[in-house]
Amino acid sequence: MSPRSERMSPPAPEEDAQGAPATRISQATAPAAKPRATRGGRTKKGASRKPPYVLLPVLVVDETLLLPHMSIPFPIEDEEAAKVVERASRGEHRHVLVLTERPVLPESEANSPNGVADEERELRALLADAISEAAAHNGIDGEPEWIPDPEPDPQEYELCGVGVIAEIAQFRPSGSRHVVLQGLARGIVTELVQQDPYLVARVVRHDDPVDSTAEAEAAMTAVMEQVENYISMLPNVPEEVLKMVRGVEEPGWLADMIAFSQEFTSDQRQDLLEILDPIERLRRLSVLIQKRLDVLNLRQQIQTEAQAGMDKQQREYYLREQLRAIQKELGESGTEAAVASELREKIDAAGMPEEVKAKALVQVERLEQQHPFSPEIGVIRGYLDWLIELPWAVETEDRLDLTEAARVLSEDHYGLEKVKERILEFIAVRKLAGDRLRAPILCFVGPPGVGKTSLGRSIARAIDRNYVRMSLGGVRDEAEIRGHRRTYVGAMPGRVIKALKDAKSRNPVMVLDEIDKVGSDAFRGDPSSALLEVLDPEQNTTFSDHYLEVPFDLSKVIFITTANLLEPIPPALRDRMEIIEVSGYTEVEKMAIGRQFLLPKTLETHGLAPEQLTITDDALRRLIREYTEESGVRNLEREIGSLCRKVARILAGDDPPPEIIVDAPQVSDYLGIPKYDYGLAEEQDEVGVATGAAVTSVGGDLLGIEVLIMPGKGDLILTGQLGDVMQESARAALSYARARTSDYGLAPDFFDRHNIHVHVPAGAIPKDGPSAGITMATALISALTGRQVRKDVAMTGEITLRGKVLPIGGLREKTVAAHRGGIKTFILPRRNAKDLAELPGVVRDGMELIQVDSLEQVLAAALLPKAQTGPVPVQVA
Ligand code: ADP
Repeated sequence: MSPRSERMSPPAPEEDAQGAPATRISQATAPAAKPRATRGGRTKKGASRKPPYVLLPVLVVDETLLLPHMSIPFPIEDEEAAKVVERASRGEHRHVLVLTERPVLPESEANSPNGVADEERELRALLADAISEAAAHNGIDGEPEWIPDPEPDPQEYELCGVGVIAEIAQFRPSGSRHVVLQGLARGIVTELVQQDPYLVARVVRHDDPVDSTAEAEAAMTAVMEQVENYISMLPNVPEEVLKMVRGVEEPGWLADMIAFSQEFTSDQRQDLLEILDPIERLRRLSVLIQKRLDVLNLRQQIQTEAQAGMDKQQREYYLREQLRAIQKELGESGTEAAVASELREKIDAAGMPEEVKAKALVQVERLEQQHPFSPEIGVIRGYLDWLIELPWAVETEDRLDLTEAARVLSEDHYGLEKVKERILEFIAVRKLAGDRLRAPILCFVGPPGVGKTSLGRSIARAIDRNYVRMSLGGVRDEAEIRGHRRTYVGAMPGRVIKALKDAKSRNPVMVLDEIDKVGSDAFRGDPSSALLEVLDPEQNTTFSDHYLEVPFDLSKVIFITTANLLEPIPPALRDRMEIIEVSGYTEVEKMAIGRQFLLPKTLETHGLAPEQLTITDDALRRLIREYTEESGVRNLEREIGSLCRKVARILAGDDPPPEIIVDAPQVSDYLGIPKYDYGLAEEQDEVGVATGAAVTSVGGDLLGIEVLIMPGKGDLILTGQLGDVMQESARAALSYARARTSDYGLAPDFFDRHNIHVHVPAGAIPKDGPSAGITMATALISALTGRQVRKDVAMTGEITLRGKVLPIGGLREKTVAAHRGGIKTFILPRRNAKDLAELPGVVRDGMELIQVDSLEQVLAAALLPKAQTGPVPVQVA
């Protein structure tokens, strides 16, 4: 079996081994072990033996690449080579001798036995390679610290004594300047017979003997093993290479084929070329391969060691794992194991539903598997802490004692009888029906500071449940209600779950404050739909928070919501709740709340004994009238607080008086100049100004509407805080007046020559829509007729184009504000008569309430009789 390839095609049979007599030169000498020829004088030294010799033109090369049985492409680069090729092609067999010319080594190295210096140099180079390769592999830049000695710079060249007789296998005289050289046999130079224009040498052809001996077999097997071993350590060597090598049956040929490999250097190849005995050649080759093997092994060792350094952390991990396993085996629990078992105990104790417990235990397992420095640990621990701390099974027992509940409610709040009654009903139903009846969700709607939130707390106290409050004001993101998924960095549960954790029981009273202020944002989900899920008894048994990922049963929670206004609450949410209005307080109620509730509470929190500070009724009234302007009592509470602090400072100072009495005049000594003018009623009867009443987010308020008439082209100018409905009211009032131009004694073209400006002062932003119609019409007609509006009259009501007065909402708020503002007569639509019963006694008794059906009646009650005659486009100051 012979290998077949271009490079390794078998040689053509040699026919002119004896050469032509004309070219023979008779000075044959026996070849030396390492024959050399010096290029300078091109001498040839060495012993001779009996020829068969040939004279061959010499192709001088500077590297030993070609070996017998192999072929190489050869570029013709100089004149001499061209001539050699040309000469050879003229011969019958186109034979040349390919002979290597190499630098002359310094004597010391050249003389060293077996080329030891060579080998050492080569080994060093290989090592340097290996080191830099390993460095590159591990991403370390730069030169290796250890660099092999540089090659000596040679001056002299010599020709080697043995070359390769080759046939010029492909020769294209006019084509490319490449030929292919096919190696045939070793050629031993016995003499150089010509120097110019090219070298011609007398060459003895050497063919390896073909007979195979046991010794040859053994040497071949040994080398084959090494070669296989070696190839297995090289990456990407095709299987065919091994096959080809195995196919060679002659020891010399095998050695040449292996030596032909790129793994060997030119010098090594030349050495092997010069060894004529095939077995000896194999042995020599074996030594070289072994060296390569050693280097490869060394390289691998360096690489693994470098890699081991990089993977220190990984190794530590494995060691720790082993340690953990050993600890487990020994029954010792390290801190981590202790943590895990503590967690398991807590999970057991938390009384979680089975599915939640299973999930928690899985997380504990995950925790145990973490590398001690893993960032996951914090995340898992955080999650487990949440699961453990939630009140899965903690439930307080209700105290459903109506007498006690009533006592608690009145202990906390003054008045609010209707609300308290509703709360007691709620408790009674729970007492009778227990959990069978789903508790309705109460929603307290009213201005700030009227006690909505504190009522929630009272309910909790009345039935002995835990209380927790969460504010929804400004919540725009669904995730605030429902939490973020744990894949987010720093994820947390939503407010509902947080509130439950704070509540420490699964059946608290949970107050959701300011449910009317929940925003929605298309990009961040709709928080109100999440709230629906919280409040809907159909859904809230399995409320799922994005962070927890396990359902929590909210059905035992009593939800109470609060809102300032009803309108902004999404209808779907509103439907789920029972609305209870908590309206503003009158002055009398505020006095009572201040005296009986706020003052004692504030004295206590400021560390004052009741006998140390006396606030007279007049002082309290002044506080209410001149330092607050509100429907509720929150600012009153705050002002009482400031007063207490000032007093506390005096009492804590040097030489304190035993008691401080604050009467009305002293209030400004403590609290500075009053913040509000008491009463919004006009100070005198005026033309073109009427007082209306409106409901705003802070409760009822008085609203002065001004109308000015000036020369112009009949435009209606509207300024101030006018909503759409108010603008329509203004147009309706104007149309009503225009229809009565002649009744008011105005010229028929009056409205074409005048502009009418209606202004609603800022500060009061009516929220309830239509209710200012009659006020605008009154101000307008006053301006048109010059009749003054009575200063102590306020009114509310909407009008039709024909002057009918329509009913309005928020009568209580409006009348309370009017009463607070010093109004004596309040005009209201007759169709609101049904609401009169709800008005506080002081309001009903303190004002004249006039019920009207038409604008005529309004004008009759509000306008003073005309003082002057003639149409009066009045300039109002
Ligand atoms: P809201 O929730 O309606 O804005 P809060 O519940 O916060 O009002 O009440 C504000 C303060 O006024 C609280 O200290 C509360 O106790 C007190 N308060 C309100 N109404 C009453 C009342 N009817 N009796 C006693 N205190 C009251």
